[in-house]
Amino acid sequence: RLVPAGLAAGVMLSLAILYLARLQMALPYAVKNALRRHELFLEYQPVVDLATGAWMGVEALVRWRRPTGEIVMPDLFIPIAEQNALIVRLTRQVLDRVCRDTGFYLEMHPDFHIGINVAPADFHSPGFVEHLEETLGRMGARPSNLILEVTERGLLDPVVARQTSGALRRLGFALAIDDFGTGYSSLSYLESLELDFLKIDRSFIEAIGTGAPTSQVVGHIIRMAKDLGLRMIAEGVESHAQADFLRAQGVQYGQGWLFGRPMSFVEVVRRMEEMARAQPLHATG
Ligand code: C2E
Ligand code: MG
Ligand code: MG
Ligand code: MG
Repeated sequence: RLVPAGLAAGVMLSLAILYLARLQMALPYAVKNALRRHELFLEYQPVVDLATGAWMGVEALVRWRRPTGEIVMPDLFIPIAEQNALIVRLTRQVLDRVCRDTGFYLEMHPDFHIGINVAPADFHSPGFVEHLEETLGRMGARPSNLILEVTERGLLDPVVARQTSGALRRLGFALAIDDFGTGYSSLSYLESLELDFLKIDRSFIEAIGTGAPTSQVVGHIIRMAKDLGLRMIAEGVESHAQADFLRAQGVQYGQGWLFGRPMSFVEVVRRMEEMARAQPLHATG
């Protein structure tokens, strides 16, 4: 009786593996089709000033709506786009989307920031900076409206990283190192780059108050960022305790479910207007 059961399990397992392998093969094509059919859309998550609660801006996060209606999250298809030389096209589509979603708003709000995730290949692709400038021109926005988020992995080639960060800085773009603490950047290397923001990875925020070894590291990261003169954005803030700790340590900005989940830009504008009504900037009395 055991044999048929084991056999059945074996068959099921083989089928599952076959299915996954087929999916693996089919995915690059599917992502390519997604780009051709413009099936990507963006959600925007608030980045909040921890001292005042005001929104300094949002981060644009890409999602893929399949023809079936199913929503695919970026962790699943960004690596595939990166491995299959599709990422540069994807980033361009994201930029165009940002332009259409937010242009009208940025034109009126010079202090509002949109964080955009860029991949290593974007930095190496010719015309990247020009395309950024051209997109901004269409938006009626300023370079300072954009924060380009790149992971440590994206800055691995020191020469390209230094050149591109320098060029972007001169044009007035802000540059953030994303998921900080998960890569291998040395202090001297970071110092050589023209960075504006450091985003502390969620894994460190999660550890706050747990007594785990990781929870000690966050203090070191904060001190280092201060020494480098970088403004910090804590990722994945989910509790008041975490926000209080970060505020007390002098971290300026936070992003996470405590403040808001990713949402449509229409919803962002609605919330901004609601906050402006509740707390007029120039109260008259
Ligand atoms: P990321 O740039 O570090 O973005 C933050 C991720 O953390 C987002 O996941 C966001 O939804 C999630 N998050 C924010 N607050 C919380 C929280 O309080 N708790 C938890 N558990 N999660 C939180 P998402 O949208 O799934 O994106 C995942 C990653 O995909 C991004 O990480 C980024 O590396 C990449 N990605 C997203 N959009 C783009 C894009 O347009 N281009 C590129 N190249 N990569 C993108
Ligand atoms: Mg990011
Ligand atoms: Mg991040
Ligand atoms: Mg992250």
